[in-house]
Amino acid sequence: MSDLSLLRSPLRFLQSRIPEIPLRELLATEEDWWKDEGVAISGDIDRGGTPWLRMFDRDGKRVDEILYPREYQTILLRGYRAGVIWRALGEKSLIPTYSLMHVISFHDPGVCCPYTVSLGTAVPLAKYGSGELQGRFLAQLLRKDDSVWQGATWMTEVKGGSDLGTAVETVARRAGDSWRLTGEKYFTSNAGAELAVVAARPEGAAAGVRGVALFLVPRSRENGELNYFVRRLKDKIATRSVPTGEVELKDSEGYLLGSADAGIYMILEVLNLSRVANSVVSVALAQRAMADALSYAERRSAFGKKIVEHPLLRRQFEERMKGLRAALALAWESVRLLNEVWMERPPYSERYQLFRLVAHLAKYWTAEFAVDTAKWAMEVHGGLGVLAEHGAERWLREAMILAIWEGTSHRQILDGIEVMERKRAHKLLFGLLEEHALSKEVEDLEAEVERHLRLPVEEREALAEPLFRRLAIFTAETLSRGMK
Ligand SMILES: Cc1cc2nc3c(=O)[nH]c(=O)nc-3n(C[C@H](O)[C@H](O)[C@H](O)COP(=O)(O)OP(=O)(O)OC[C@H]3O[C@@H](n4cnc5c(N)ncnc54)[C@H](O)[C@@H]3O)c2cc1C
Repeated sequence: MSDLSLLRSPLRFLQSRIPEIPLRELLATEEDWWKDEGVAISGDIDRGGTPWLRMFDRDGKRVDEILYPREYQTILLRGYRAGVIWRALGEKSLIPTYSLMHVISFHDPGVCCPYTVSLGTAVPLAKYGSGELQGRFLAQLLRKDDSVWQGATWMTEVKGGSDLGTAVETVARRAGDSWRLTGEKYFTSNAGAELAVVAARPEGAAAGVRGVALFLVPRSRENGELNYFVRRLKDKIATRSVPTGEVELKDSEGYLLGSADAGIYMILEVLNLSRVANSVVSVALAQRAMADALSYAERRSAFGKKIVEHPLLRRQFEERMKGLRAALALAWESVRLLNEVWMERPPYSERYQLFRLVAHLAKYWTAEFAVDTAKWAMEVHGGLGVLAEHGAERWLREAMILAIWEGTSHRQILDGIEVMERKRAHKLLFGLLEEHALSKEVEDLEAEVERHLRLPVEEREALAEPLFRRLAIFTAETLSRGMK
């Protein structure tokens, strides 16, 4: 029988599976603070709604300021101070970042969005920014106090986020040493951030993804005026504390990161940082939904005993606990691999290709697991589960966003199939898993993948999901077995 009480503490659950987790004292302090204070703030903000956009100041000057409830700053800045960004580059490891994210997102998944996009700004700046750009901007993103700057990662335009090669129409024109960007971004989380990394097409660049480059765009121009404009904020079902808006770039000052023709690689590197974060947050959210379901099931009685004591429900908790351990194993394998390869530049190593496959499997499966678990946790609450005051419905709203942004499940499946076809990444994956799986199982699945990759394109795509799901579950369960 599983120790279900582990569900109640993100740190204890992490430690039970990953004994080497660092910064225990810090993580314990953060967890205690969230329990005592953060949870109430987070709940109020979710009920209260999205931040406001104040477009003009008292004198009628355009300021595009995002106004937050004051308490939001308390929870947001706390994570920055604890080191969710500065530790990554200061300690040259992503483990502290993603450990903090697990603990924080157990209580509030939304607040990990600003952290993720700030990381997605700091890392490409540190890797690809010129010495001058780093000197101007990097230290602000790594500050350890409340004056820290935030980042943002804006790729999606109104024509869509999946097919960036077609949809990115923002144009960048050279202006001396820098560039001027003009266009509109349609889904801009952390609107109002001091710095953003933005996908744009240099004038005259090739069509398709190869013609898209990555630019650093500050909120203020060199002369102090606004450099980008927030047209409106979106009213979303979840991550309601995060200002997700639409941004207009009008001759905005921008600075090219790396070389223009390697833009798509950098964009994918940024996305990979977020996909791994998304996987960690999905697992923490599933854990939280289960913890709430457990508390309720221990209070509620039916047919003469607590509902948790009924065999069917007890069995469901057991099975889901197994699923949660497997989801954690898969998410953390993507963390570990990313931690090995995050400073690589193209052309990438074989290890990087293995990471890509594991990251697609993890983003896909952990988000699906989170949605399914949040739905189940609502059902455990019965009719009360649909009432906002019981809190369970929030996890389903939050989980739905995790399955969509950073590339939908469709995207993960198709890109996962592509990395197997073009880079033979499944060979590397099966090599990783063989120690903890029966060789017959590995051989059978490998043969199935090979058969699938030989199918004509139409069929290969149409039939991809059941195979990819099986591969994700097999990988997760095998890795989980290896953790014992
Ligand atoms: C709350 C929120 C915040 C966001 N913040 C940001 C942000 O800060 N920066 C940013 O750049 N983006 C952001 N996004 C956008 C997000 O990344 C996109 O929503 C996502 O990539 C999907 O793009 P789309 O919504 O345009 O859907 P589309 O690309 O229009 O796709 C529509 C549907 O078609 C499916 N589809 C597309 N192609 C295929 C195919 N070949 N085969 C099968 N199915 C396919 C998709 O999977 C999807 O289900 C945010 C989104 C949300 C919901």
